[in-house]
Amino acid sequence: MRVGVLGLQGAVREHAASLSRLDIESCVVKRPEELDGVDGLILPGGESTTMSLLADGDFLGRLRAKAETGYPMFGTCAGMILLAREVDGRPSEAIGAIDIAVERNASGRQVDSFEATLDVEGIGDLFRAIFIRAPYIVRSGPDVTPMAWYDGSAVMARERNVLVCSFHPELTDDVRIHRYFVDMIEEGSQGRRLEG
Ligand code: GLN
Repeated sequence: MRVGVLGLQGAVREHAASLSRLDIESCVVKRPEELDGVDGLILPGGESTTMSLLADGDFLGRLRAKAETGYPMFGTCAGMILLAREVDGRPSEAIGAIDIAVERNASGRQVDSFEATLDVEGIGDLFRAIFIRAPYIVRSGPDVTPMAWYDGSAVMARERNVLVCSFHPELTDDVRIHRYFVDMIEEGSQGRRLEG
């Protein structure tokens, strides 16, 4: 298995380090054609506006089409914004692969960054979650499973092959969330093998 990390901007190396702790090979994906060489994609934190400007329309369209085929994607923070269907009250022009509405910088109104301890449904308890000008999920569609909450808002969710979280698991040495994503990739490829 090889997992790609979208390498346009942001916390790319940190995700690669989390994957290597799990003995999973990773590579940086900068061009749409590189998507075919990896089994799933992590979209890192950073600045979502910059990332969507760096990914031209072609790349975003390709990511959208890939997500529709069941290709596993995991977005953290800015990556979650790129994957959300609605951003700050408007339909997303980025990927829109998960039926959630997010509010950008929702956690940053009081302080730029903070840590909290979260329980994550289906994964485990006592996660050290680092929030940096993080988006919150303000609405989620019927097929979306919220997995963690902070201050009354969902901060992690999954809809089929798409996983998102507001915080930064790659900035800690806790790899349980990355392990969960790797398991999603494995389950998906088994499913595809059974169908084919
Ligand atoms: N606030 C950033 C954005 O809107 C996200 C911050 C982050 O990824 N740490 O893109």
